[in-house]
Amino acid sequence: MSISQAIEKVEARYSHQPEFVQAVKEVASTIAPLYDAHPEYQQMKIFERLVEPDRIICFRINWEDDQGEVQVNRGWRVQFSNALGPYKGGVRFHPTVTQSVLKFLGFEQIFKNALTGLPMGGGKGGADFDPKGKSDSEIRRFCYAFMRELHHYVSKDIDVPAGDIGVGGREVSYMFAMYKNLTREYGGVLTGKGVGFGGSLMRTEATGYGAVYFLENMLTAQNESIEGKKVLISGAGNVSLHAAEKATMLGASVVTVSDSQGTLYDEAGLNQEKIDWLKAQKAKSKPLAEYVDVYGGEWFAKQKPWHIKGDIAIPSATQNEVNGEDAKLMVENGIKYVVEGANMPLTADAVDHIRVHRVHYAPGKAANAGGVAVSALEMSQNSVRQYKTFEQIDDRLKSIMKNIHDSAADASNQYDKTDKGYIDYMAGANLVGFKRVADALIAYGILN
Ligand code: NDP
Repeated sequence: MSISQAIEKVEARYSHQPEFVQAVKEVASTIAPLYDAHPEYQQMKIFERLVEPDRIICFRINWEDDQGEVQVNRGWRVQFSNALGPYKGGVRFHPTVTQSVLKFLGFEQIFKNALTGLPMGGGKGGADFDPKGKSDSEIRRFCYAFMRELHHYVSKDIDVPAGDIGVGGREVSYMFAMYKNLTREYGGVLTGKGVGFGGSLMRTEATGYGAVYFLENMLTAQNESIEGKKVLISGAGNVSLHAAEKATMLGASVVTVSDSQGTLYDEAGLNQEKIDWLKAQKAKSKPLAEYVDVYGGEWFAKQKPWHIKGDIAIPSATQNEVNGEDAKLMVENGIKYVVEGANMPLTADAVDHIRVHRVHYAPGKAANAGGVAVSALEMSQNSVRQYKTFEQIDDRLKSIMKNIHDSAADASNQYDKTDKGYIDYMAGANLVGFKRVADALIAYGILN
């Protein structure tokens, strides 16, 4: 079966899962040259196999709110592929979580994890639970109840979840506590644990910092530097604020962050004090807009950052936050680099538009792989029970991000015969990630 036939099948079977179909089509649109060069992929139906998860575990979560009322949520773990290592990928708590969203994230995760060169398969999980407005006790009871179900299916060598939207250090600690309690096993079953009880230094910063390291490599490839560049960032969570922090450290001027309520614009640019204030404000779930009262700037209620002029955009909130119209605004406003901190933040239209306009574009599976890479380092530190310093992890992260950049750039040059002079990181990342997984599947025969 050819790739186009495989896509038709996915579209027919999963028309009710738009995010998943979007992610599959994006990968498929770039791997044809590789497929043509390897008839065994077609013969062994590698693509057709990879678009079906190994399994999806779906469960009910009963928990009690502060009023003593019983609440019921749905939870999932999509174990997509363990061809290269234990299933690995975050857990998301957000009311928009559906099987389609988790399948798209799990599918992307297979290739992202392969790109790191570290031994991890791909998976993703979550629940349609909304942490907003919940008390700490409610969050704790929900995390315990979630892990009470999930613990049957995960372990340090089978499936190793981590955080994602709505799941940070606090939630991981509660889930880890329940896992330990039920299994009596103190192992690396989750990453993103607190430093001091199994967590790795730098895991919290890794995704945002890694995205900026990737950006630095892109700039170097164009003989440019990050210093003095004007950066627009969306989101005000883990990825966004750490990307803002690293970009600021390296001399860029970060002028926006945003959240679901609107965009904050500070023409003067952020500095460490302002970023610390933003981190504290979001940790207390308080409004981003209050920044203006403390530091000045402008608040654009219910607006995204893309109407503002800049050199670099790092969308880091959520999937499909940048549509075709936003991409047009980016191009009009002078954006030359788009680096995806979030997973699939650009719609297919938006990707087409910026690629047509030769904007340098780093897809999430390459640019935000720093988080999962440091998770892999956390797993190995847990196994040997020895911990590395911040500087050691930071050095590893930098070299992993450079390797991802260079291997994607090399693959783009090798397979893109049409368009020299433009590094197609999207095609390059898909080609490298896909090839690593496909070759493992070929070696395994028809199991997996
Ligand atoms: P957080 O929960 O820490 O932050 C998410 C941020 O995005 C918040 O500021 C939130 O605003 C905003 N946001 C969420 N949904 C929307 C929306 N529909 N419109 C506007 N703003 C929105 O999540 P992370 O920073 O961890 O994750 C962000 C993205 O990065 C996700 O795509 C995730 O999959 C990806 N990612 C995360 C990794 C990690 O290590 N954490 C690793 C790799 C990728 P509000 O507070 O108002 O809800």
